[in-house]
Amino acid sequence: LTSRLPDVGTTIFTVMSALATEKGAVNLGQGFPDFHCDPALVDAVADAMRQGLNQYPPMTGVPVLREAVAAKVEAIYGHRYDANTEITITAGATQGILTSVLCCVHPGDEVIVIEPAYDSYVPAIQLAGGVPVYVQMEVSAAGYAVPWDAVAAAITPRTRMIMINSPHNPTGTVLRRADLDKLAAIVDGTDILLLSDEVYEHMVYDGQRHESVCRHPALAARAFVVSSFGKTYHVTGWKIGYVAAPAALMAEFRKVHQFNVFTVNTPVQYGIAQFMSNPAPYIELPAFYQKKRDLFRNGLSNTRFRLLPSDGTYFQCVEYSAISDLPEAEFAKWLTTEIGVAAIPVSAFYHEARESGIVRFCFAKRDETLELALQRLGRL
Ligand code: PMP
Ligand code: GLN
Repeated sequence: LTSRLPDVGTTIFTVMSALATEKGAVNLGQGFPDFHCDPALVDAVADAMRQGLNQYPPMTGVPVLREAVAAKVEAIYGHRYDANTEITITAGATQGILTSVLCCVHPGDEVIVIEPAYDSYVPAIQLAGGVPVYVQMEVSAAGYAVPWDAVAAAITPRTRMIMINSPHNPTGTVLRRADLDKLAAIVDGTDILLLSDEVYEHMVYDGQRHESVCRHPALAARAFVVSSFGKTYHVTGWKIGYVAAPAALMAEFRKVHQFNVFTVNTPVQYGIAQFMSNPAPYIELPAFYQKKRDLFRNGLSNTRFRLLPSDGTYFQCVEYSAISDLPEAEFAKWLTTEIGVAAIPVSAFYHEARESGIVRFCFAKRDETLELALQRLGRL
């Protein structure tokens, strides 16, 4: 059998979580909370099940949830999507990304990927027969930034799509209005589409706001915007999210979606729709996670790790050259095995392992978990 994805192995998240379990390490590797979601959300889903809402929902998602998403996006970003024609509920952001790519990337089309990049992007492009074109973020003491000149230079007549991700996994970088303006200038006059991965949209800190492409009409007009309820409501295992896009793009998206998953489980959709009628959980999320970020950063300030900025997401990147000269993957294993704290090597987010001496920690953990990790990391 000739593999469709010859370069793909087991994801780094699975590898590091397995090692963390085997070694009894505190798992700050794979990004998921170690605390419970709001019991009211569980009740809302259980109520839907008890009411018998257990059969196939519409292919595009239940109308109340699509409507709740449209209302939220309009309230926050001021852009109105038509809930009937422009929003589809997906099996997590991962399926939203794959389906967006499959529905518009043809064999030989180029897709610009900005590295470090979330690990599902490139396989999605390859499954479509597309060609990933890589641009690397710049790393400096001030953190990671997208070099828009390099993005512009990577465009060719074959460029079909540019993928962006803000707040950014793994670096915690948050795009600003000026970034979106530069991107808009780059794509102006072309038919290049955008995939905007905004799964961490509700995790932006220090009073900054999330610059969704929905705020930028020229970008929204050509974008698939992907989000995930797993991140926002502390339920990563529920694997549910959504994609919003202009009707013409969404029509193509749905052609693939209906044969990809057809639809997404019914009671969770109703439960989330009901829970979303209260905006407090996502409005309060930045303060909730900012406290955890600060607790973690303060603890690390007594170590030889150099902290990079974390303006959004629930990730903190650290540079470790004062502690070790091991390559990132080796250092992450050493941390897990010898220090008892698992991390993710940032090199795993590049197509050609690139060593910057940086690993990523996830701080979406109970304070006790973070304190235990800090106690262990405090030796370094
Ligand atoms: N994009 C990014 C940037 C992510 O970090 C994740 C989850 N780790 C996803 C997409 C996938 O989200 P989901 O679990 O909803 O598929
Ligand atoms: N997105 C999560 C992370 O970056 C992991 C998701 C997964 O395990 N595939 O850690």
